[in-house]
Amino acid sequence: MLDFPAMSARFSVARFLEGNRRFQRTEFERHHAYYEKTAARQRPRLLWIGCSDSRTPESIITGSRPGEIFVHRNVANIVAFNDVNIASVIEFSVKFLKIRDIAVCGHYGCGGIRALDEGIEDTYIADWLLIAGGAKAKVDALARRRKLSREERHRRLVEENVRLQVRHLASFALIKKFHRSGAVPRLHGWVYDIHTGEIRTLTRWRQNG
Ligand SMILES: [Zn+2]
Repeated sequence: MLDFPAMSARFSVARFLEGNRRFQRTEFERHHAYYEKTAARQRPRLLWIGCSDSRTPESIITGSRPGEIFVHRNVANIVAFNDVNIASVIEFSVKFLKIRDIAVCGHYGCGGIRALDEGIEDTYIADWLLIAGGAKAKVDALARRRKLSREERHRRLVEENVRLQVRHLASFALIKKFHRSGAVPRLHGWVYDIHTGEIRTLTRWRQNG
């Protein structure tokens, strides 16, 4: 069970270290054998590509333990071609950790996606969000056909961005090479609803699919 300390106006970073001591005394101590096993070797089953947003902690929202999910998070869960960081995470995951499932998980209420839609100028964030431009073009085209409320537009854009990033993932040379020789890694597009706590499946990419 998660234990949430009361939010205090007088915040101190020491709270995180106190939280760690609590974790060590309770969860870690209780499942010592499990942590001992993972200390010897990690065998994560999923590569999670998510947003850096503090409200989308992959382990907590999927009910997972340390050792189960290999993680890459950035602003607006973008799979960028020119990013050695994400490329090395993907390479390490599929080549060395033998992970067979990769999920790109976006979330409603995403500040990065709002910035993509509303515009943000002369910042690194603006450059970064250019990679998600195709998702905005799709939603703009839809908005010309029918009226979308502000919230509906935002949700559509979050979803289109996930679909776009899954396609980016499928176009990675390394992933294509794996797909040519088999059906894995399977690519999943998910969206997390910060209002309900639910993760919904948007897309599941298959070879030739
Ligand atoms: Zn976000």
